[in-house]
Amino acid sequence: MSVALPLSASRSRTTAATGRKLSSPEAAELARRLRQETQGEVLFDTASRGRYATDASIYQIMPIGVFVPHSEQDVALAIDIARELQVPLLPRGGGSSQCGQTTGAALVIDTSKHLRSIVGMDLEAGWVEVEPGMVLDHLNAELKPHGLWYPVDVSTSAQATLGGMAGNNACGSRSIAYGNMVHNVLGIDAWLADGSSVSFGPLAGLGAKERAIADFVQGLAERWRAEIESRWPKAMRRVGGYNLDIFHPQSERPYTGDGSVNLAHLLVGSEGTLAMTRRLRLKLSPVPRAKVLGVVNFPTFRAAMESAQHIVTLGPTAVELVDRTMIELSRANPAFRPTIDAALIGRPAAILLVEFSGDDRAALLRQLRALVALVADLGLPGQVVQMPDEAPQKALWDVRKAGLNIMMSLKGDGKPVSFIEDCAVPLAHLADYTDALTQVFEKHGTRGTWYAHASVGTLHVRPILDMRRDGAAKMRAIAEEASELVRRYRGAYSGEHGDGLCRGEWIEWQFGPRLADAFREIKEHLDPAKLMNPGKIIDPPKMDDTSLFRFAPGYKTITLTPVFDWSPWNVQNDPATERTTAPGTGGDAAGGFAKAVEMCNNNGHCRKFDAGTMCPSYRVTRDEQHLTRGRANTLRLALSGQLGEDAFTGDAVAEALDLCVSCKGCKRDCPTGVDMAKMKLEFLAQRRLRRGASLKDQLIARLPDYARFASRVPWLMNLPQQVPAVARLMERWLGLSAQRRLPTWRRDTFARIEPSLGLASRDETLDAAKPVVLFVDTFNGTFESENATDAVRVLRAAGYTVHAAGSTRSPLCCGRTHLAAGMADIAKSKAHALLDALLPFARRGIAIVGLEPSCLLTLRDEMLAMGLGEDAAIVARESLLLEEFLAREARAGRFAPALRPATRAMRVHGHCHQKAFGAMQPVLDVLRLIPEAKPELIESSCCGMAGSFGYEARHHAVSMQMAELSLLPAVRAAPDAIIVADGTSCRHQIADGAGREALHVARVLADHLLP
Ligand SMILES: Cc1cc2nc3c(=O)[nH]c(=O)nc-3n(C[C@H](O)[C@H](O)[C@H](O)COP(=O)(O)OP(=O)(O)OC[C@H]3O[C@@H](n4cnc5c(N)ncnc54)[C@H](O)[C@@H]3O)c2cc1C
Ligand code: SF4
Ligand code: SF4
Repeated sequence: MSVALPLSASRSRTTAATGRKLSSPEAAELARRLRQETQGEVLFDTASRGRYATDASIYQIMPIGVFVPHSEQDVALAIDIARELQVPLLPRGGGSSQCGQTTGAALVIDTSKHLRSIVGMDLEAGWVEVEPGMVLDHLNAELKPHGLWYPVDVSTSAQATLGGMAGNNACGSRSIAYGNMVHNVLGIDAWLADGSSVSFGPLAGLGAKERAIADFVQGLAERWRAEIESRWPKAMRRVGGYNLDIFHPQSERPYTGDGSVNLAHLLVGSEGTLAMTRRLRLKLSPVPRAKVLGVVNFPTFRAAMESAQHIVTLGPTAVELVDRTMIELSRANPAFRPTIDAALIGRPAAILLVEFSGDDRAALLRQLRALVALVADLGLPGQVVQMPDEAPQKALWDVRKAGLNIMMSLKGDGKPVSFIEDCAVPLAHLADYTDALTQVFEKHGTRGTWYAHASVGTLHVRPILDMRRDGAAKMRAIAEEASELVRRYRGAYSGEHGDGLCRGEWIEWQFGPRLADAFREIKEHLDPAKLMNPGKIIDPPKMDDTSLFRFAPGYKTITLTPVFDWSPWNVQNDPATERTTAPGTGGDAAGGFAKAVEMCNNNGHCRKFDAGTMCPSYRVTRDEQHLTRGRANTLRLALSGQLGEDAFTGDAVAEALDLCVSCKGCKRDCPTGVDMAKMKLEFLAQRRLRRGASLKDQLIARLPDYARFASRVPWLMNLPQQVPAVARLMERWLGLSAQRRLPTWRRDTFARIEPSLGLASRDETLDAAKPVVLFVDTFNGTFESENATDAVRVLRAAGYTVHAAGSTRSPLCCGRTHLAAGMADIAKSKAHALLDALLPFARRGIAIVGLEPSCLLTLRDEMLAMGLGEDAAIVARESLLLEEFLAREARAGRFAPALRPATRAMRVHGHCHQKAFGAMQPVLDVLRLIPEAKPELIESSCCGMAGSFGYEARHHAVSMQMAELSLLPAVRAAPDAIIVADGTSCRHQIADGAGREALHVARVLADHLLP
């Protein structure tokens, strides 16, 4: 939906400094012309604008509108239209900036969706030319086979675009070896605000227009040379202001290898305020053939800080800090704990990760030994964990990269705030600087966690502040005291994340009034109408202007009685101890739901395409709306009344959640644990309370209720598969895609077969020596009863007494289908019945084993948030997927059936909920019990079927695109392999998309049982 809304309909926080306030007719005219004259997507509705009103900073400014160009031509046209209408422009990539660079009352131009190609390369010469929306990791994936990479390895490499990286003069962990963006950019083609195209590069090769610009800047640089030399921070990590020092570089690392001048470096770090980047020419580096890592353990934080200056003399490619708090936070995350533990010796106060890389492994090992000797000389013998192998190194780097995000998972209104987190000081002063700043934090009743780039004196630290209460005043006081320290130690105030809104006012403080005026002259020369990203670098607002805060004082949400229990999020925290209050005491008018939504800090980590599940719909559409962040923002705006009245159950939220397949990928992969699948259930329940349920929803939700009767007349129920006209009618009436084969009804359901299996009764099971309860869900019981009977065979072969729950006259159900249709009340009554049936077993510690991940894991997830009390927790504790149970029993020596060797390869696709609960390893473990089996995981996100999602006509195309991202190609690439998939929907999707039968792990095991 892209309807031009009156801007007054939204909470308008436009200021002259940060953009322009357009009247509704002006905004409508802008939208009309963009639609008429370009091929791009024009998003002017309030929800879309709201999704682009924030980045990873504390700020929020409603843009005038959003434009997503399809081509360079679209951008050029948009710039022309904007200029004619005098509308400011704000270029944007991944929107992962931490200082508010990408927020403004302007027309946002998002290049990340379509402008993301490599447009030229010369690998011999070592350069590549890219469009600005290309993501760093994607570029490096292309370069890897050639032994090359682009080495500015920012932590956000999976979402940062090259255009955004250049905009911020981004810096990676290995900047000590490779430098920042400015050291690695060879040329930039751009549009100026007047619509002209410029090509910035080495001074010697400039055209006439560019030469004139260079002359102008050189004139300024000469005029202020003495001022530059005296005021300019000498640190490599200085990214504030414009790079007026290109003619006389002040960085400790020269901008170019041969000392020449490159005009493109003027645009690097200019935050979209001078020009809109069209293409970037980048300098590539060879991928080092080997890397070794030494983890130095320190008894005190100060000792770590004092050592950094000595360690860098050994020539490392990275020296990264992880402090005690971060160590503990990482250890609290089960996914990270083994990795971090392997790096520790005792309980260090801090560790430094010291990496050496190059082509000569023997030389690197010598450097590692030199590190061990140096650390011993510093009084710390035996305090280095040596990691010569790549796998543990990579795992540890991943933990370090996740550092900031781990920290952000603190619940409550106080959050670690980024505003002084990348001040850079010379290494000789690092210990004194960090000591003094820690005292500043203490004085203001807060604390900070230290981590990151010790090699270059840029340590990240964020004090915990509550921006809704006294955060602004504390931020100002801390910033002033921090700046004094930076001055005392002759450092750079802005050393990595740019100026944006929170550091703009410090530019004059850092460089002095004359250089600030020189920056203004550069801006006026290149952008006289001040149309490019207003309020950044030149004329910035005050950092603590609360009218620009995302959570301003007085921030309120609607009152809501949630259907699910969100009380664990409804807490406040103590900034000094980080301890949280009791669940339910946080004062959230929405019962904790709003605070759960607010856990999204906009870091953009969900914009990823690498390992993990999050976020399948974004992977297909690349729309901000269909991203976990976009959804959380839409919910936040709705809950805080910024999308109008009753917006929470309205269409804007429904549209944002429509393609969420409830895969729970974000529950696991989002660093702050945003659980959009559960949030969608809350939304669906609340919407249904207001609007009721559709016929299609009723039909799908009530399937467990009518399955027994329907399976008696399979000939009738299967008509849509046999008579195309019926399928077409189903599509028209119910919205179920005629292109889909519906599940096939059959008479031999598990309920009918069960009496012949001679399973144990309830009492026999309670008294048995080796009991287990099999929870047969509706889907396996009705459509694939062989999965359940095979599970029984496997369990019995290992001597278990098996009782089947949920199969006979009164079928049991986890309520999943009802939840998905918003029928939380019915789901609750189903859950009660299920608990009643399972409790006697669970109380005795008898495992309840399930086959369908989405059903069984409902017992461990949603049912705990339905207000069912301790009973739900008791049952959850004993509920296991078949493979989890068998792997556990095998480890304990209780499951060792006789199995014949495997004769075929095995490829395993994980159901999203299995992955979200870390339950994939047990599948592999159990399959490996089969002699000679070598099961391999398919690296896949969601299969795209996701319950009823893929059956719906309006989702069919997206569903198939999700499957084609990786799952179906991987299945096709292994024509002889057994495909293992535990999810009913996954098996269906594989059959529909690849024409292959996938098997539940129960069937694979049963097939290998020796008679
Ligand atoms: C958790 C976390 C970790 C981070 N770690 C690092 C780190 O290790 N190192 C680091 O340097 N930064 C880091 N950052 C900050 C940020 O991720 C990087 O600066 C990143 O390079 C920004 O890329 P982006 O695509 O998100 O740019 P955006 O945020 O979209 O834009 C950045 C700036 O570039 C401008 N811009 C974007 N596209 C263009 C264009 N086509 N033409 C002109 N200007 C343009 C924008 O207007 C804006 O001013 C981190 C941020 C987070 C949230
Ligand atoms: S949803 Fe999670 S990963 Fe995505 S931006 Fe929000 S906090 Fe980051
Ligand atoms: S549940 Fe899955 S589809 Fe929905 S937002 Fe999270 S990762 Fe994306």
